[in-house]
Amino acid sequence: MTDHLLITHAHLVVDTGYEIADGWVAIADGTVTAVGPGGSEPPLAEGGRTIDAAGRLVTAGLINTHHHMYQNLTRAFAPSADGSLFEWLTTLYPVWAGLDEESTYVSSYLAMTELLMGGCTTSMDHHYVHPRPRLIDAQIRAAREIGFRFHATRGSMTRSVEDGGLPPASVVQDKDAVLADSERLVTTYHERGAGAMIQVALAPCSPFSVQKDVMIETAQLAERLDVRLHTHLAEDHDEDAYCLETYGMRPVDYFEEVGWLTDRSWVAHCVYPDDAEIVRLGAAGVGVAHCPSSNMMLAGGTAKVAEMRAAGLPVGLGCDGSSSNDAASLWLEARTALLLSRYRQGPGTPTALNAREVLDVATRGSARCLGRDDIGHLRPGASADVVVWDAHEVSLAGAHTDPVEAWLRTGPARALTTVVAGKVLVDGGEPRLAGLGDALTDHRRVSRRLQRLAD
Ligand SMILES: [Zn+2]
Repeated sequence: MTDHLLITHAHLVVDTGYEIADGWVAIADGTVTAVGPGGSEPPLAEGGRTIDAAGRLVTAGLINTHHHMYQNLTRAFAPSADGSLFEWLTTLYPVWAGLDEESTYVSSYLAMTELLMGGCTTSMDHHYVHPRPRLIDAQIRAAREIGFRFHATRGSMTRSVEDGGLPPASVVQDKDAVLADSERLVTTYHERGAGAMIQVALAPCSPFSVQKDVMIETAQLAERLDVRLHTHLAEDHDEDAYCLETYGMRPVDYFEEVGWLTDRSWVAHCVYPDDAEIVRLGAAGVGVAHCPSSNMMLAGGTAKVAEMRAAGLPVGLGCDGSSSNDAASLWLEARTALLLSRYRQGPGTPTALNAREVLDVATRGSARCLGRDDIGHLRPGASADVVVWDAHEVSLAGAHTDPVEAWLRTGPARALTTVVAGKVLVDGGEPRLAGLGDALTDHRRVSRRLQRLAD
C-alpha cells in the first residue's frame, strides 16, 4: 500500500461546478493535499506512486446511501415481476432467518468489493434482520479488513406476524434488546469527525415494522448519542393504506409524529409523498436515498428527484438490496437515475437531470445524507476517496466533447482504480484484497445452504 499518490493527466472533477480538464490530484496519508492543472504537479514523495489517468475521468468516489448487503446471498431468488413488495418480503423472510455471523461477514465482504469495482468508496448498510447476535460486528470486521469506508446502521424489526407485522417471529426482537444493542454498537464503533472510516446510525426497518414507541425511543437515543437516523419511507402505495388504517394518518404525518422529521434523518425511496409533503420534508432537511433500479425492479413508482432537490432535500443515490436490485454498481444506478429523470419528463414537469447533476447526487448529495462534508469531493483536505474511471475505447469512440456526459451516457463504466483513504483497493480494474478468494468460496457455500440447494 502506498501512502503518497499522484494521479495525473485526468479530466478531474474536483467538486460540483469545479473541473480541471488536464488536472492532477495529490494524496498523502489518506487526505487530498492539493489539486491543480497539468504542468504544476508537485514532486512525488519517496516511495510514492504516480497513476497516469490520461484520457480518463477522475472523480470523488461515489457514495451509496441505501443497501442491504446480506441480500446478495439470495440474488435473483424471489420473483420480482409478478408480486407486490409485501409478497416479495414474505417470500424471503424465512430464508433470511438463517443468517449468522459467517454469512453476514461474507455477504458484506463481497458487497463492499462489488461496490468498489463500480466506483463506490463509502456505503451504508441497512441491516435489520437479526436472528442471531453480533451480525453488524461481523460487517464492521469485513469493512476494516478491506479498508472500506462504512456506515453501519442498526436496523430493527419488532412487529412479527403475531403483532400484525410482516416478518416471522424468528427475525424480530423486542424494543429493549434493539435499543441496548444500538447503544453498544455506537459506543463501540462510531467514529466522529473528518476521515471517519466507521460510523453507526440507528435504523428501524420501516415505520410499520416496529411499534410506535420503538420509533420514538430510537429517535431519542439518536439525539442523545448524536448519530443519524435511517428508515424506509413511502416506498410503496400499500404503505399509505396501511398507515391510514393503523395510525389514521399518512406515512409522512406519522414520521413527524414519532419525532423523525429532522435533518438527522435520511430515508430510503420516498416515492409517494405528495407535493406538500415534499415541501415539509425539505424544510426539515430530511435526506432521501434515491434507488432507481430497485423501484423499477419491484415495479413501483420512483422518487421525484428534481422536485426534491428544488425543495432543498439532500438527495443521494442508493443501489438498495441485492435481492431487489440484483446488481450493485453505483455507476449503473447513476445512469438509471439519469434515464428515469428523463423518462418522467412531460409538459410542465421539468424533471430531466444531466450527467453532472446525477454525479452531484451520487457524491455531494449522498454525503449530505450521511451527514458528512469530508467525502463526495476532492478539494484539499477531503478524505482521499478517488476513482479513475475505465471505459473501453470502443464504447467511448466518438465521445469527444464532454467527458462527464460521456462517462454516464456511453459506458458501461467501472473503476480502473479505486482509492479509499489513500489506499488503492481496485487496481487495473481488479480488486486487490487479500481475503477475496476465501470470501468467494465461503459465500458460495453459505448462500447455497440458505437457499437449501445442494453444494
Ligand atoms: Zn431497502
